[in-house]
Amino acid sequence: MLPVLDTLARPLRSLRVSVTDRCNLRCAYCMPEEEYRWLERAEILRYGELSAIVDAFCALGVERVRITGGEPLVRRELERFVEQLARREKIKDLALTTNGLLLEEQAPKLAAAGLQRVTVSLDTLDEGVFERLTRRKGLPDVLRGIEAALVHWPGRVKLDTVVLRGTNDMEVEALLEFARARGAELRFIEYMDVGGATRWSLEQVVTRAELLERLARRFGPIEPVREDSSAPAERFRLADGTVFGIIASTTAPFCRTCDRSRLTADGQWYLCLYARLGIDLKKLLREGATTDELATRIASVWRARDDRGAEQRLAEHARGPLADAAALRAEPHLEMHTRGG
Ligand code: SAM
Repeated sequence: MLPVLDTLARPLRSLRVSVTDRCNLRCAYCMPEEEYRWLERAEILRYGELSAIVDAFCALGVERVRITGGEPLVRRELERFVEQLARREKIKDLALTTNGLLLEEQAPKLAAAGLQRVTVSLDTLDEGVFERLTRRKGLPDVLRGIEAALVHWPGRVKLDTVVLRGTNDMEVEALLEFARARGAELRFIEYMDVGGATRWSLEQVVTRAELLERLARRFGPIEPVREDSSAPAERFRLADGTVFGIIASTTAPFCRTCDRSRLTADGQWYLCLYARLGIDLKKLLREGATTDELATRIASVWRARDDRGAEQRLAEHARGPLADAAALRAEPHLEMHTRGG
């Protein structure tokens, strides 16, 4: 099948599906407010509806699907959705992003349902920092979740760390040691000025360059892994062969190779994390659109795509949060926890 290309020749290859906007943590870089306006329950798509939309994407060449949220494991019987997607032959890569809190209990069900790999967010190994950063308890649960993931998806577990200066940047070496000892690939993520990050400031961003310098001081020479990939992380190798990634969306964005888009739990489709407007696929679906009709609409939107959201943010002079709390309450779809990461 010929790939569907946008105006910058980017193919439509990968879809992130958020199954809920709810989360059991309140991370400072994502959900720093006290109150949130949640999506209406009646608007949340059933698993069968989400699968029907995924089918339309697969008909256009999407082979990689990542389940996300909010926290996907707080949605009931997530394994039923995994099972539905795992039956789709066109999906070659079925992954999940989770904060790990509920993973120990759910890992066996999710693996049995056909989930192929897991990324767990892990920002700290210190319980005090975890509680300050997430405003919840639970680091021991997360760590047990990671151990369960290593049992059920050996060699297919990634750990994602958002690095914030003054909060957890002193732990980057320890986090890499932790991942190395477990054979998990760690990816450091630059703190992004996305919707939800109302307390974002450039001073808190630890850049890729700075990270590499620090890690080289501890671990010795670091070499880039040469690969032709649209994955967001640039990968690097330590002298002992340990591979880790850096997702430098803030200081070195990679819009030109972006083949991702995002579906919210209420069926809004976003072409970019920074996009102001989404495309309402739920409406089409609930009006009775067939897979072909959905695919036709999706293809026509994708072909017209010309966004370069992170690159445009980089070009801004006085860079600050994308949206303030009032704007996010007026339009919760702007939130990272609604769009999925
Ligand atoms: N709850 C799940 C989790 O914690 O992985 C999935 C959803 S979460 C929104 C997805 C990813 O987005 C997480 O790795 C999180 O750290 C990342 N994220 C959220 N806000 C961010 C920000 N301001 N900058 C960079 N990454 C962010």
